[in-house]
Amino acid sequence: MHESVMFPVAYCQRCGSTQLAGRDLDASGAWVHRCVRCDHQVEPPDRRFSVTSVTALGYTFDEDDGGCGGGGCSSCASRSS
Ligand SMILES: [Zn+2]
Repeated sequence: MHESVMFPVAYCQRCGSTQLAGRDLDASGAWVHRCVRCDHQVEPPDRRFSVTSVTALGYTFDEDDGGCGGGGCSSCASRSS
């Protein structure tokens, strides 16, 4: 179901490659976009990548780590004392 999720990406000059872009406020309170890897300011994202494409850039997602989606939430239920 996460295949439909798209992430904004932009070319980061410092990294020299396409990276995920996150939105942030600069010192004057204006919206800017920053490379999530090195925090360098980047151009506003003009593309969106799917999870598969973002993973190919070297990012990882901990989708299967302790989530409630797959196992009937047994790990959460066992927390009650
Ligand atoms: Zn960067």
